[in-house]
Amino acid sequence: MAVRPIYLDYHATTPVDPRVVADMLPYFTERFGNPASRQHAWGWEADEAVERARGQVAALINATPGEIVFTSGASESNNLALKGLCETRRERGRHVITVATEHKSVLDSCKRLATCGYDVTVLGVGRDGLVDLDALRAAMTPNTILVSVMAANNEIGTLQPLDAIGAIAHEHGALLHTDAAQAAGKVPIDVRALHVDLLSLTAHKCYGPKGAGALFVAKAKPRVALAPQIDGGGHEHGWRSGTLNVPGIVGLGRAAEICREEMPAESARLRALRDGLLEGLRARLDGVLVNGTMDRRLPHNLHVTFDGVEGEALLMAIGDLAVSTGSACSSGSQAPSHVLQAIGAVRDGGGASIRFGLGRNTTPDEIAYAIDRVATVVASLRSSVARPR
Ligand SMILES: *Cc1c(COP(=O)(O)O)cnc(C)c1O
Repeated sequence: MAVRPIYLDYHATTPVDPRVVADMLPYFTERFGNPASRQHAWGWEADEAVERARGQVAALINATPGEIVFTSGASESNNLALKGLCETRRERGRHVITVATEHKSVLDSCKRLATCGYDVTVLGVGRDGLVDLDALRAAMTPNTILVSVMAANNEIGTLQPLDAIGAIAHEHGALLHTDAAQAAGKVPIDVRALHVDLLSLTAHKCYGPKGAGALFVAKAKPRVALAPQIDGGGHEHGWRSGTLNVPGIVGLGRAAEICREEMPAESARLRALRDGLLEGLRARLDGVLVNGTMDRRLPHNLHVTFDGVEGEALLMAIGDLAVSTGSACSSGSQAPSHVLQAIGAVRDGGGASIRFGLGRNTTPDEIAYAIDRVATVVASLRSSVARPR
């Protein structure tokens, strides 16, 4: 088998932690019961496991277990939050505010709402990737029912000021939804302190399995009501019908618990590696531009643009690194990302960008290797470009 590239793409997905796999396994085989079976021990055992996981997920974000609805992942949670809330608050108002750098599952849910008679305001962001609070205040109207702003961006890792955003939303009688797919388990989240009413998360971004996620729905101050988007047997308080993915939910719960316990040490370790990566690149290259602010950012994210290099050429040359690359060039054949466009990082002069996502298995040796590979490749691509820099 070919040697696989070094994995530095932890924003795309993460491996399942072996401790999580171990907890999940019995729920495929000897404990396969349906938690909706109320009549016998097979069902009770599965139900107990689901309720344990509900508590573990709640603890990660300072919620109560009754406020957690299990879903198939953050895309579904985002759809349920936006469409489900707008449906129930239709008579109160029809205005929704979101941000240009959101995940497609939020932006496209908003597009759908727009075709159903809702007004959607999409706020821009600054060069730093952050929402301008004055622009948010100015966009609020008496008809605004929901503000949806992600906790951490999946490309540039920037952390939005949710506490201030939530306070503004509440002052105007609107609710705050946040897509925390990238933030949950990586940075502390307290839904009460942050004034969050709805929060989406997903297991596969925090060392749990794919296909399991959750939506936090506040039960107090205010109590949030949702219209289900999947009708059926009335599982999950009637908000999300369908037999529960018990092994996936058990995995999500354990993954959340491990993240919570290990977060302080792990985020310090990753921040040091990430800062070392940037320093290492800058020591060898000039024209290394960081996209988004470094001041409010996930500890394991680095997103940089290299001046004077074409995206495609860079991608071809660093096949031994599993990273996500994007063009920062508006004339390249690769479409520039909507996030880079929103922060104004897309220019005509070329420039290739790389998203580095570090994670639990990332070692100092891998970072040293990545610095050397990228610096060598960028320097050689630049020297082969005929035009002067
Ligand atoms: C990955 C991701 C999603 C989608 O999550 P799935 O569980 O894969 O549906 C949504 N939002 C953000 C910010 C993400 O990073």
